[in-house]
Amino acid sequence: MHADLLIIGSGVAGTYAALTALKAGARVVLATKGALASGSTRWAQGGIAFPQGPTDLPHHLEDTLTAGRGLSEPQVVQSLLEEALLHKERLLELGVPFDPTPTREGGHRRPRVLHAWGDATGHALLSTLLKHLHGEGLEVLEHHAALALVQDGARVVGAVFWTPGGGRRTIRAGAVLLATGGLGRIYPVTTNPHEATGDGFALAYRAGAVLRDMEFIQFHPTALPTGGLITEAARGEGALLVNARGERFMPRYAPAAELAPRDVVARAIYLEAKRTGGVFLDLRPIPNLPRRFPTVWQNCLEAGHDPTRAPVPVHPAAHYAIGGVKTDLWGRTTLPGLFAVGEVASSGLHGANRLASNSLLEGLVMGARAAQAALEESVSPRGGEATEVPGLDPHALPELRRIAHASAGIVRERRELEEGLERLARYRPRPAETLLEAEAANLRTALELILKGALFREESRGAHYRLDHPQEAPRPYHLEQARGAVPRRVPL
Ligand SMILES: Cc1cc2nc3c(=O)[nH]c(=O)nc-3n(C[C@H](O)[C@H](O)[C@H](O)COP(=O)(O)OP(=O)(O)OC[C@H]3O[C@@H](n4cnc5c(N)ncnc54)[C@H](O)[C@@H]3O)c2cc1C
Repeated sequence: MHADLLIIGSGVAGTYAALTALKAGARVVLATKGALASGSTRWAQGGIAFPQGPTDLPHHLEDTLTAGRGLSEPQVVQSLLEEALLHKERLLELGVPFDPTPTREGGHRRPRVLHAWGDATGHALLSTLLKHLHGEGLEVLEHHAALALVQDGARVVGAVFWTPGGGRRTIRAGAVLLATGGLGRIYPVTTNPHEATGDGFALAYRAGAVLRDMEFIQFHPTALPTGGLITEAARGEGALLVNARGERFMPRYAPAAELAPRDVVARAIYLEAKRTGGVFLDLRPIPNLPRRFPTVWQNCLEAGHDPTRAPVPVHPAAHYAIGGVKTDLWGRTTLPGLFAVGEVASSGLHGANRLASNSLLEGLVMGARAAQAALEESVSPRGGEATEVPGLDPHALPELRRIAHASAGIVRERRELEEGLERLARYRPRPAETLLEAEAANLRTALELILKGALFREESRGAHYRLDHPQEAPRPYHLEQARGAVPRRVPL
């Protein structure tokens, strides 16, 4: 089967890229591991950050750069934000049912986060996009998991998939767009869905692409012990953090208190929980909670807590992979024919700490751009060979997650990182025979990249905190990793 564009993944980035490519008249194959409505997008609560008109653009830019701690690339941020309003208009045309008033989230100095269906923004967004996903040029392949990229020399010309029947199938295309989302499932407590097994990072790495800044894992400050999320917007609308002694503590850590950037709040919660035995979120200041935040309300009840009666226990959970496959402003990776967008990519927007609600925006803008660039550069695919498909016994996953928690959590240090890498080295991949084995090997690769990145980044910046290097390096640098090479510092 030949297509102009093979898109892998059907979250916001993949779906929006597909809509853009179809509008341009392309032949598109959209293959996704589960059902179409899958990935983290489906679960996004808070919303999409859009500059509130041209006068707000410089402020949105500044907030993004401040959160990114010197590692966001200003020209990338500027260029993405300049296009944001165009995509907001497009979403309105498509019928995304945005609620009328934008809200404010941590790190944003103004209300600019648009939400839909209260706190079910991702669900509203994705189901609207999927309603429009049809057309003659489109073939959708659900329950097709990409196992490896197919390469003709360095050029990526397709991918090999695990099919619903348990076999393998190769799909070739003029260009390949990775939109496979995150890797949160390597951590024991995560907000990410089951699909987030780091496949895209591992596939790109094995094919020889450059990945960067993999050590920056964003921990969402306020997850329930079940992993259920309490959106940042709840703090934007009055919820307060208290420790086990009932004391409000955030004003001691940051002038913006509960609305400080995520890395600051997550570290403060970690320290207060260690000091006093626990941290709780008091949602009672929010008027009409069940109506304004129906998902949060439901998550709390499912975890056995009535948030209108007492503060609910919270702690940070692995939430977002800030680093990823290095791309330019058009989603081009370092391999010809391979594009990457959304959470799997590192476009330069998020720096060392993603500003809340900037990722759905990135998925939209970069999804559209990469589709356009990929079609312009699409070639007739010739032969090519698949990279290998390593596997790992899935029974190793609990131990891998213990390593991730102990060595690559909110606070890191050299000794634990080295120990983590040593423990990880005991788990040697072998050829995969099942999808679960392939996913386990991908999680292992993702963890190795995180640990190595965290070891080589000898500073503390944004979401990466080293006890033994608590200061920021004077000059920010990206940390690039490629197969067979020692991690490399690339100054901004
Ligand atoms: C609970 C939660 C709440 C969030 N809230 C917000 C928010 O309010 N605002 C915001 O901006 N961001 C939010 N985020 C982050 C944001 O949702 C994600 O970063 C974003 O949706 C990622 O989009 P994506 O298209 O890159 O990936 P995803 O939406 O994760 O989609 C990835 C797709 O790839 C598929 N896939 C994975 N591996 C393979 C494979 N091997 N082969 C084929 N297909 C594959 C998956 O099945 C899925 O379809 C939240 C995240 C979570 C988990």
